[in-house]
Amino acid sequence: MKILEGSFQCEANTFCGQRAGIEDFERYEGEELLNKMAATPIFREAGAKVVPLLYVSALPSGMVTLEAFEYYKNLFVDLIKQEKDMDGIYLYLHGSMYVEGLGSGEEWLLKAIRQVVGERIPIAVALDYHANLSDGFLKQVNAVQGFRTAPHIDQDDTERRAAKSLLACIRSHVCPKPAVFRVPFLGGDASTTDKEPFVSITKRLEELDGEEGVVSCAFFNGQPWYDSPYTGNCAVVSCTDAVRGRREALELAKMFWAARDNLTLEHAMPVDEAVAASLEPRDGIVFVTDSGDNTTAGADGEGTLLLREYLKRNVKGVLVCGILAKDIVNELLKEELGVQKEICLSKGYQEKQRIETVCRVTLKKKGTVYGWAGDEVGEGVLVSCGNTDIVLTNARAAFTTPEHFSRMGVCPEDYQVIAIKMGYLFPKLKTITENFIFALTPGVSSNDFGQLGYRNLKKQMYPINKSITWEDVMTQMELESVFA
Ligand SMILES: [Zn+2]
Repeated sequence: MKILEGSFQCEANTFCGQRAGIEDFERYEGEELLNKMAATPIFREAGAKVVPLLYVSALPSGMVTLEAFEYYKNLFVDLIKQEKDMDGIYLYLHGSMYVEGLGSGEEWLLKAIRQVVGERIPIAVALDYHANLSDGFLKQVNAVQGFRTAPHIDQDDTERRAAKSLLACIRSHVCPKPAVFRVPFLGGDASTTDKEPFVSITKRLEELDGEEGVVSCAFFNGQPWYDSPYTGNCAVVSCTDAVRGRREALELAKMFWAARDNLTLEHAMPVDEAVAASLEPRDGIVFVTDSGDNTTAGADGEGTLLLREYLKRNVKGVLVCGILAKDIVNELLKEELGVQKEICLSKGYQEKQRIETVCRVTLKKKGTVYGWAGDEVGEGVLVSCGNTDIVLTNARAAFTTPEHFSRMGVCPEDYQVIAIKMGYLFPKLKTITENFIFALTPGVSSNDFGQLGYRNLKKQMYPINKSITWEDVMTQMELESVFA
């Protein structure tokens, strides 16, 4: 048995002006790729020969450029062409990679692969919980697994499930078509899986995992900062009996719809209130998340709104962490510690989030910006302006773990308030403190979806349109070809 495996990932925020190009992807090949993918041991234990294709991954950002997509897609296709007698293909994708001028990158990657291998080779995919899945994509794949946790902690489990799904297809000589049921719901940072309806949905998915005839089952939240007709939640079930797949997908969608109103943001406040609340006396640190400029949701992280609010108040013990300011950082890196400089952040912008901000800073430390995979992606500086400390970086950054702070030379315990470019608090930060305030800042990752200016979204989407009924949802599904 011979299985090809690879990964191509970049979560796109289509409202973000910046683009992900060829250089923005980290690249792994050969043995390094095999060691990186949690599916590899599952295939090997089954006696399969695993052939590494390519593993390329970029930080969430704006759309992927057509050039970058074509470049990597062609590498995949060329590598697959060299393998004549494979039994299956396994891919770990994000599911919300939007390519400039094309749309779903996953769809076009899979279409290109199918042109080489035809319809009779099973393809299984592991996807992020925030995947937006086009019909064109779903028609190319046979088994679809997705993360069941948000914040995500089950990436490896998802890969292992997808690997088992592929093995099931190969052993039974089947290439089932997954059934999809779309739920017209935009779920942002409120859609965490520690609450209903996700607790019940996960339980149901776990039951289905063990049932005869179920090849794969998943429920996706979608990614709301992605403007397309297929943006939104969906249940995807692949069964050897297609009718059953449709029935199970419908039941999962129903479960979600019944409890959707339970998905509300916790600790969320308008900016003024959030800043005031963060400065109230308390034991320990509080994180304030700049949700509208959330780099983990593709925003660029140049926003200065929260910084300005803290500079105005000039209270001791505040750190504003991770503002992207490439040129300023590169200049400051050449200076000695202790130097004072006037800097201008968000120069030339006067948006609600990126407001031109001039401040006189003292250089306190120089450090390293860590990427998502724990690798070095750039450099940063810690500066102070009055009583406020600021981390500036020359690469887009997401301070998602304590290590991200330590590599920057910052000790979180030195502060009472830390503002970060995030929505919900990432799990590893909870080892620092569980206190957090969700600041409802404006920007390309805002949770106020009505403000984003969608042009391609389905007309009826909850909660922008709160009058949608379950009957409307059913009618819409009957009109959509994949389900019919
Ligand atoms: Zn995600």
